[in-house]
Amino acid sequence: MAVPFRKTSKTVKRKRRTHFKLSLPGMVACPNCGESKLAHHVCKSCGQYKGKEVLSK
Ligand SMILES: [Zn+2]
Repeated sequence: MAVPFRKTSKTVKRKRRTHFKLSLPGMVACPNCGESKLAHHVCKSCGQYKGKEVLSK
């Protein structure tokens, strides 16, 4: 079995892990109510999409 020649240093390990991030993809602020919502989706808090299409309640 192949074994790493050197131990990965703390610095190298930490530098690699700078790319491991949590992300919220496609979150935008609703233009009507300012609530964060998913892009290209109807706003859950005010039910609007593109300013007029209203979700019936
Ligand atoms: Zn909204």
